[in-house]
Amino acid sequence: MNAPAPKISFVSLGCPKALVDSERIITQLRAQGYQLTREHDGADLVIVNTCGFLDSAKAESLEAIGEAMAENGRVIVTGCMGAEPGPIMDQFPDVLAITGPQAYESVISAVNEASPPAHEPFLDLVPPQGVKLTPRHYAYLKISEGCNNRCSFCIIPKLRGDLVSRPAGEVLREAEKLVKAGVKELLVISQDTSAYGVDVKYAPSRWREGEVRTRFLDLARELGTLGAWVRLHYVYPYPHVDAVIPLMAEGRILPYLDIPFQHASPKVLKAMKRPGNQAKTLDRIRAWREICPDLAIRSTFIVGFPGETEEDFEFLLDWLEEAELERVGCFKYEAVAGAPANAIDGAVTEEVKEERWRRFMAAQQEISARLLQRRVGRTIDVMIDEVGPSVATGRSVWDAPEIDGAVYVAADPGLAPGEIVKVRVERADEYDLHGVRL
Ligand code: SF4
Repeated sequence: MNAPAPKISFVSLGCPKALVDSERIITQLRAQGYQLTREHDGADLVIVNTCGFLDSAKAESLEAIGEAMAENGRVIVTGCMGAEPGPIMDQFPDVLAITGPQAYESVISAVNEASPPAHEPFLDLVPPQGVKLTPRHYAYLKISEGCNNRCSFCIIPKLRGDLVSRPAGEVLREAEKLVKAGVKELLVISQDTSAYGVDVKYAPSRWREGEVRTRFLDLARELGTLGAWVRLHYVYPYPHVDAVIPLMAEGRILPYLDIPFQHASPKVLKAMKRPGNQAKTLDRIRAWREICPDLAIRSTFIVGFPGETEEDFEFLLDWLEEAELERVGCFKYEAVAGAPANAIDGAVTEEVKEERWRRFMAAQQEISARLLQRRVGRTIDVMIDEVGPSVATGRSVWDAPEIDGAVYVAADPGLAPGEIVKVRVERADEYDLHGVRL
């Protein structure tokens, strides 16, 4: 008789990019016959995919490792924190192995060594689209690894290296498989989506009967032919981004751009070493909205960056008022160990950071409420995410899962997750819409 398949408990922390790494590791493990379990207790081992972006994320990762050690004791650590294993080894010298981000092969070998796979892996079939940790109707599509930028607050290039783009044909085949398996929305992610293909000089690769170039516009255009919603994340306002806006206006990809602006004051942006010509950003946003009036822009900002004065902060608030971004997140600056920004003079006190954060959030709340009021009375497409007894929760084309607002739809017996329905918007609050299915 064959030995039972070893059971793995998996903890996935961090951003969508880390989630995609987790999916790839799990897909390979399932292909080798491993079983997944939700409980650490009783598993043959635990894998913790860590996030090392901020000190708070590192603390959360160490806590997760601690829990896994206490509940199981056989733990493999991977992900961003694994790039610098010192703090993990100091606290948990008995972990079985530590591997860095995207080191899929090393994780798999460590698992194989610690708990060899069952003998007949072909009995444990993996769905062709791989194992997804997201709900069945949407999936993240990672188009590249690493980043060529050197933003002063970020250590991702140090952890993940320079940009390495996946060939466009390979990305498109993965996207096609996902759509065939029932995925209705593809969320394109990377560290810098607009830089896609720069590293390979936009080399062509095989796709269907011909070829496709590894280039932002070409990839977006081809993804738009697959019959799913296509949402672009982590785009910078480079001039060539202008070319995808007509695809949005024509309805081929979603009228949505996630652009992490981080600040607006030229002085702070310079200290942050952010990519993109910020001086012309407002003009660029205006021009995009002329071509695609329904465009929604989501962004994130950092307040309290070293050297940020009250004047810089007020510049940011004025800019926000003028830019009228639909969806905005804001973080208080946190010093990340190893980031060059730590050496910049003029640290902002925690009290001032908190005060600026509150002012920022209050200003954006008003903008968001005002913009959402404009949607009242319109009939919009809504992707249903969850169906409850009295209300279903969904998203419009302007809302990404997890990070943006929601559309609440009065219960209707026909609604199911993944379905796209027409909804008449009846009211709006600060962040969400409420409506009825037509
Ligand atoms: S664009 Fe900047 S913040 Fe984003 S990963 Fe690259 S260096 Fe980090």
